Amino acid sequence: MTEPTILWDYDDTLGGVQFPNGTIHPGAEAYFDCIDRFVALMASEGWNAERAKVLQHDIDLELAKTHGFGNKHRFAQSMAHAYLALCKGIGATPSSLIGLRAYDIGMSVFTDYPYVALEGALDVLAETSRYYRPVIVTKGAVDEQMKKLEASGVLGFVDEADVFIVERKCDADWDRVLATVDPDVEMSWTIGNSAKADVNPLLARGFNGIHITAKNNWAFEHAELGEPAAGRAAHVVHDIRDVLDILPITALLR
Ligand SMILES: [Mg+2]
Repeated sequence: MTEPTILWDYDDTLGGVQFPNGTIHPGAEAYFDCIDRFVALMASEGWNAERAKVLQHDIDLELAKTHGFGNKHRFAQSMAHAYLALCKGIGATPSSLIGLRAYDIGMSVFTDYPYVALEGALDVLAETSRYYRPVIVTKGAVDEQMKKLEASGVLGFVDEADVFIVERKCDADWDRVLATVDPDVEMSWTIGNSAKADVNPLLARGFNGIHITAKNNWAFEHAELGEPAAGRAAHVVHDIRDVLDILPITALLR
């Protein structure tokens, strides 16, 4: 059945993480917050903050070569090793306690940053779902993505059959999703935070699109957005709530 549909990206479009201080951010920023906390710990122990940051970064990249990016302990180890390197640099004896605290800050990226909906996302989902069939197309591992969708409350707005967890968002992935969903292309929208992965491939297939971009790189992100087909629309916004001003909701209630 062809219906007006919204193909939603999930990560950093609808969902993100909550920092220990209560604020809500895109998922990847959990790592930056941990790095800030590590650097603050080092500074409080009298080490040069900038040097600590550079060491952690370089050691993390080095460890990624041997451990791989999927290794759960790599990030924590990069912090402990950066502390050891600071000590070694001046011939100081490292404190086990500080080393362990650095390590624990790294591991906390998995425990202290729960998955939540981004500000405004659930309101926009609720509102738009009265007019459009919501479909989630998200990249990643099935278990982890389902956990995020559930924890954030997003799953409450979407039929489980309309959740597509794909490997790459490549052409073959889109072919499969669209063959299953069979949306009314002319009336349907794709909405995501990546022009390249979420929006442009569907503009090329005749959909309308909205790119939700970070506030600080408006000009750059705008340049990334492809051209819509004749008669279709493509927009850049920096707040998910702006979606409500763009979508034509003159269609009948579902
Ligand atoms: Mg995304």
